[in-house]
Amino acid sequence: MAMMTGKEYVESLRAMKLRVYMFGKRVENPVDDPILRPSVNSVRMTYDLAQGPNYKALMTATSHLTGETINRFTHIHQSTEDLVNKVKMQRLLGQVTAACFQRCVGMDAINAVYSTTYEIDQKHGTSYHENFRKFVAEAQTKDWTIDGAMTDPKGDRSLPPHKQEDPDMFLHVVERRPDGIVVRGAKAHQTGMCNSHQVLVMPTQAMGPDDKDYAVSFSAPADAEGLFMIVGRQSCDTRKLENTDIDVGNAQYGGVELLVVFDDVFIPNENIYLNGETEFATMMVERFAGYHRQSYGGCKVGVGDVLIGASAVAADYNGVAKASHVKDKLIEMIHLNETMYSCGIACSAEGTKTASGNYLIDLLLANVCKQNVTRFPYEMARIAEDLAGGSVGTCLSEADLRGEFTGPWVAKYMKNGTGTTAENRMRILRLIENLSLGSGAVGYRTESLHGAGSPQAQRVMIARQGDIEGKKKLAKRIAHVKED
Ligand code: SF4
Ligand code: FE
Repeated sequence: MAMMTGKEYVESLRAMKLRVYMFGKRVENPVDDPILRPSVNSVRMTYDLAQGPNYKALMTATSHLTGETINRFTHIHQSTEDLVNKVKMQRLLGQVTAACFQRCVGMDAINAVYSTTYEIDQKHGTSYHENFRKFVAEAQTKDWTIDGAMTDPKGDRSLPPHKQEDPDMFLHVVERRPDGIVVRGAKAHQTGMCNSHQVLVMPTQAMGPDDKDYAVSFSAPADAEGLFMIVGRQSCDTRKLENTDIDVGNAQYGGVELLVVFDDVFIPNENIYLNGETEFATMMVERFAGYHRQSYGGCKVGVGDVLIGASAVAADYNGVAKASHVKDKLIEMIHLNETMYSCGIACSAEGTKTASGNYLIDLLLANVCKQNVTRFPYEMARIAEDLAGGSVGTCLSEADLRGEFTGPWVAKYMKNGTGTTAENRMRILRLIENLSLGSGAVGYRTESLHGAGSPQAQRVMIARQGDIEGKKKLAKRIAHVKED
């Protein structure tokens, strides 16, 4: 059985000895913690939807390593159709969770490391690719959720890794043994790490010849000795402790990011996929970033669908749905959302086969995709708040709605006279708040800016891939420019 049910996934997490800290204390049971549980539910959805016939085509694939039917999140893309289906799957999951479902980073990491290790071996005669194929086959058979870990704390951004005052600002090898390496450092903003079985570490940027100890890629169990994690704070996170369904906005699903510390973790040789071949750090980074920038053309679009729906419902409840400017604002949201989707599909359809045999997205289009995602969700959130009205920022609490004295007053003055209840109106307002301001905004708005690399990172890639010289030639030819 290569696929777990959602229930089995949750149980598999429970069986792990994850070291998770939050608010300065160890979380003894991260699976059932009320702040963390919505993020478990989001990942769980990647398992639940893969069961049964309804979403089989999107959610599953056939492993090229084992021939078994596997969850697409563990798949090595074998065609451009696989790349397109990946984006469609992510849109679907964004629609059903309205949150970050976290599992894509691992899928993107395994595809980047798969093709890069093949090319390292070709040049250096190493056996990283063989090691990695075994890891992927096990990930597919055990249906692992993998955290793809790239971003180091980085310290002084103007200095390369080996020149940092504190050498741990970039994760690095501190000891080499015959049977493996010992690594120290941290990875920041790790999406879903406390809901993962494994972590797949990659370097965070291009490396020079003096950065050998920093050019390292490996996998480790999420509960490996020496590894621990600290949960990132989100606005409104403690509302989840208040036993309120309405005020959370999206009580069932959420995302989570963590700082992951590697405090001298031993990595056996068979789990090492890059170890000092500094010139390949860039390839690994660009491919992982490219895949994850493609991903945003799916997941954020799915969440955007929910935001558009919530905005339309808010307009209905406010009695303004027929106003032409309201219709136009909803059209604008759809236009922005589908533009991002178009980019996600386009960079997939234009994908090409790598030397290792798996498929890579078109890197220029993937970066254009993500560049749009750094802007459009912000505009969509602005329009959503416009359509929702000021109550999105001043909405009364669920406790007030249920309060013995306040309840009737809240019910009377929050209802709006369009036939809906105050409670329904408050639910929609809180959902919009969640996506534009609250905990959900981490996965939708802020993550749209910084996730998979901040805007400047894409502009660097667009500059590199944009072929300005080729375009100049086109212009000169048409204009009959003659130069000596
Ligand atoms: Fe997946 Fe999107 Fe979350 Fe990245 S931000 S892990 S692509 S849902
Ligand atoms: Fe992300």
